[in-house]
Amino acid sequence: MKTLIISENDDNGLKKAAATLREGGLVAFPTETVYGLGANALMPDAAKKIYAAKGRPSDNPLIVHLSCVQDVEKVCYACDTYYRLAESFIPGPLTVIMPKRDIIPFEVTGGLDTVGIRIPSNITANKLIRYAKVPIAAPSSNLSGKPSTTKASHVVADLYGKIDVIIDGGESEIGLESTIVTIEGKNDLRLLRPGGITPEQLKERGFNVKIDKAVLEKLSDFERPAAPGMKYRHYAPCAQVTLFDGDEEIVKRKLQEYKSVDSAVILCYYEDEELSRLPNSYVIGSKTDDLDTAHRLFSVLRDIDEDDKIKNVYAALPCAKGIGLAIFNRLIKAAGYRVIKL
Ligand code: AMP
Ligand code: MG
Repeated sequence: MKTLIISENDDNGLKKAAATLREGGLVAFPTETVYGLGANALMPDAAKKIYAAKGRPSDNPLIVHLSCVQDVEKVCYACDTYYRLAESFIPGPLTVIMPKRDIIPFEVTGGLDTVGIRIPSNITANKLIRYAKVPIAAPSSNLSGKPSTTKASHVVADLYGKIDVIIDGGESEIGLESTIVTIEGKNDLRLLRPGGITPEQLKERGFNVKIDKAVLEKLSDFERPAAPGMKYRHYAPCAQVTLFDGDEEIVKRKLQEYKSVDSAVILCYYEDEELSRLPNSYVIGSKTDDLDTAHRLFSVLRDIDEDDKIKNVYAALPCAKGIGLAIFNRLIKAAGYRVIKL
């Protein structure tokens, strides 16, 4: 298949891409979180094409993207709590799980009778959905199991030749996927996946937030995660990632032990000067700026993937506060939960 690459500034191109979506094609587009791979959420066959292009397991549901809150009732049964969340956080990087209406096929929801709804704030994403005039089912536009895509070149690497259009909108602003919540009571939320909106921000607005177990640790083979996607080894580069948990200085010394191992790289922060000047270290951001780390993490993991010689990646277990919770979650998943206590 020939994949057309267009700029987000090409309005005619966006209109054509929207028509491609409406007619059942696949279009990768920028959002404020990561790049998404969109399909018409009302067409079962279009949804199936997403699973085929990504190699995604068919029980891993797709998030449905809309352009405005007014459209939410058309695809699901929304409650007051949703609209209160929307006042503070929507449009933006928040996905809310709600009971689906019949118009959304089970092919989109992986057989579930609920649907995840997100309204992106990214202008291009929002415009594309508006032009398409249909809800857009869109997971992240990476091959299943690979780190998510935060620039158009990542999408080209994973999906060129498999989808109709890639819209280039530069680097994703946040760089990590949306926060996913389910509503469990008037003010009660369960966090299924941490992301751009932090539990602290939700609490500030008067919501109680329970963190789902699957966010923090590996579930046993008998436990089913509330977000089916959380059970898959996600966000992972080809090399084995190992995380060290313990006193900062001890962890730093441990990481230095790998400085001359050809097949190993170390992830560190700008501030870790002894580590960041090593030839085999990758800076993932600043210790005082989690947003910067979120923004760079997937891109660094993808850069590491490009070097076949790298067999091991070592890093400190990050602090799970604020956006740090999302970074912690993505790293423990990238590591396949391989965390060594020092
Ligand atoms: P992705 O779009 O690739 O970021 O993945 C979407 C994530 O949303 C996966 O982890 C899914 O399990 C989760 N998700 C989507 N819809 C639902 C739903 N109805 N219930 C629970 N989790 C969902
Ligand atoms: Mg994904």
